[in-house]
Amino acid sequence: NISHELRTPLTHLNGYLDLLINGDFGPVSPDQLSALGVIQRATERLGHLIEDLILFSVSERNQIYLHIQPTDLVDLCASVFKRSLSKARDHQIQLSLEVASEAMQVDADLEKISWVLMQLIDNAVKFTPPGGKVVLQTTPEENFIRIQVRDTGIGIPQDRLEQIFEPFYQLDGSSTRKAGGTGLGLALARRIVEAHGSLVHVYSEVGKGSSFEFLLKVHPNE
Ligand code: ADP
Repeated sequence: NISHELRTPLTHLNGYLDLLINGDFGPVSPDQLSALGVIQRATERLGHLIEDLILFSVSERNQIYLHIQPTDLVDLCASVFKRSLSKARDHQIQLSLEVASEAMQVDADLEKISWVLMQLIDNAVKFTPPGGKVVLQTTPEENFIRIQVRDTGIGIPQDRLEQIFEPFYQLDGSSTRKAGGTGLGLALARRIVEAHGSLVHVYSEVGKGSSFEFLLKVHPNE
């Protein structure tokens, strides 16, 4: 019920913003249009925060419900890659996709694993200075496929590699921090990957970059 209460006002905001921006209520001046754009982006951010909080509170109380099915990993990665491109471009990050070309089916919840990869790429882009690189890579390993999101970003100190997975933990907790976010992304990503029977590993070097990785099980061929 509370998730409905949180989402409904946002739906109204978005609907009326679209109408205003499209000029359905009359002509809009360039200044008004740019102000509406600011409101729209803030509303979008608020929407993401609300979705993260809802997903997190649900996963606190219950085991995460997964809809596991044979999932084409190449398609999944290509779709996540496409959805992340504009964000990477805005941050002047070179995003690349390195996946084995043959179709490969893994046992996974398509929506949730896509969410995890979006989250990892989002972080990689956020914490990598302009001009840097982010790679989404898959590597076949016997009965598993290793999925990696690597960046050439600011890195994470060794003694913080465990804490970053705690809910609400952020390395830079100051109010002047540049990157947005709730500190829930990695906590949720870990829960989703663990619900798949896997683990998230992170390798990082301060000033050089980070790599977040996990394995997914290949769907057995009958
Ligand atoms: P958020 O991104 O909303 O702050 P996360 O749970 O996704 O929350 O990440 C927690 C913290 O871990 C981030 O605030 C950041 O300090 C650190 N972090 C996550 N990913 C990276 C990365 N790729 N490079 C450097 N630091 C990272």
